[in-house]
Amino acid sequence: MHQSDSQALPVCIIGAGLTGLTAAWRLVGAGYRVVLLESTLQAGGMVTSFTLGNQSIEYIYHHIFTSDHHFLDLCREMDLEDQINWYQTRDAIYADGQLYPFSGPVDLLRFPLFPFLQRIRTGLTVLRAGRLKNWRDLESQTAADWLRRHGGDQSYQKLWQPLLRSKFDRDADKVSAVWIWNKFKLRGHSRRHVAARSSLGYMNGGFSRLIQALQNRIEQHKGQILFGHTAVSIDADHTNGRPRYQITCIRDDCSTRTITAGAVIATISGRQFASMASPLSLPDAYLRKARATRYKADLCLIIRLNNSLSPYYWTTICDDLPFVVAVEHTRLNRSLEYGGSVIYLSRYLDVADPLWTQSDGVIYRLFTEALGRVYPDFSIHHVTGWRLCRTRYAQPVISCGYSESMPEMNTPDPGIKLAGMAQIYPEDRGMNYAIRLGREAADTVSGWLASQEK
Ligand SMILES: Cc1cc2nc3c(=O)[nH]c(=O)nc-3n(C[C@H](O)[C@H](O)[C@H](O)COP(=O)(O)OP(=O)(O)OC[C@H]3O[C@@H](n4cnc5c(N)ncnc54)[C@H](O)[C@@H]3O)c2cc1C
Repeated sequence: MHQSDSQALPVCIIGAGLTGLTAAWRLVGAGYRVVLLESTLQAGGMVTSFTLGNQSIEYIYHHIFTSDHHFLDLCREMDLEDQINWYQTRDAIYADGQLYPFSGPVDLLRFPLFPFLQRIRTGLTVLRAGRLKNWRDLESQTAADWLRRHGGDQSYQKLWQPLLRSKFDRDADKVSAVWIWNKFKLRGHSRRHVAARSSLGYMNGGFSRLIQALQNRIEQHKGQILFGHTAVSIDADHTNGRPRYQITCIRDDCSTRTITAGAVIATISGRQFASMASPLSLPDAYLRKARATRYKADLCLIIRLNNSLSPYYWTTICDDLPFVVAVEHTRLNRSLEYGGSVIYLSRYLDVADPLWTQSDGVIYRLFTEALGRVYPDFSIHHVTGWRLCRTRYAQPVISCGYSESMPEMNTPDPGIKLAGMAQIYPEDRGMNYAIRLGREAADTVSGWLASQEK
């Protein structure tokens, strides 16, 4: 027990997504008091689930890779390690109005939309990238230039450009080569050998089990999770020895409440943090960086059907459709408990895009009309349910030289940590790295609190 004084101020964590929950668990486990503030009424953030048929399922598709060691460690800690099943899925690309299998190197060599030599060059690019150790060499290059130079112009136009657009929309040409290098590395490490399909993991009964287990453990250790509490400002009093932080929240009944804490971990976007931190006198240079972090939003439609659409788990859309990826979840986890096949259709976009503010019904109609172009077997009459999930801060835009422009987790105030997805680098966001970051933020805070006790 590090905090012998039961009156010691708690650590306030903003956000009960995987980062916030992991940080809270780490801190309560080390004997610290914790108050976790969550705007919504459920824990999990982007990994939040609902019940479909007789089983829990995520609003947004999720799987893990065999190299996700932090994720697997946490599952072990929660006694859930044996609940992960591994699957070798089949994937496809929809391009020029046709569906092509695209699960590994053999499919790449057969892909007819660019010349054979460029297919070989593309395969070698992916292989070499997986082995590259020094990502700093890639920092000054855009993914577009790097892929065009190594794979050829046509492979870029037919394959990589649509892929980058599918994630970064209008910012596709600005994305750093470090980002795509990471994707190659992740997929490569999830294959047993070069020609194999990658193995993807999913938890028996859904990832909500991990979220629930974390929530239970935090509460068993007297950690407080306050749902329906949206943090709106952070202030600090450094006048009397140890700093005290005041976090003001708006509750879901519109009343306000202020939490006093000995340290703060904010697991939110840079922009939200910058506006929340305005009462603090943090240096302008840091706040400018936090404000400048850009994010794509995501629309994710989940549909239940009474038939399967294809043998593919993951279909990347390299064509002009309103969604950019179709994920047939029941090709990964074939549970019958959902009451049918489950398919996700997702689109990353800017919030300035008119699609973002369309009604759920309009988005459903647009997406399902286009779905029939990809899978001719699709019929709207087979749909037995659907939901749309909107995520405002879904993907930070990782541009060239990101290590210079990234607002560090350690803010200029040593008692305040910013631990959102934009603090994950050179890797890309993902559950595995949310867990790593949550642990790192908790350890840094506990180290700092312990140093103050001396
Ligand atoms: C479309 C999509 C697909 C994905 N697929 C995968 C995948 O297959 N595998 C994988 O590993 N990862 C995947 N991810 C990424 C993964 O979901 C995230 O990396 C991870 O969940 C991030 O967790 P987090 O806690 O950092 O953020 P979040 O989950 O965003 O949690 C932040 C929490 O803070 C709360 N909050 C925000 N503002 C406030 C406030 N002012 N006051 C109080 N609470 C606040 C939010 O409500 C939320 O609960 C995917 C993400 C998306 C968008």
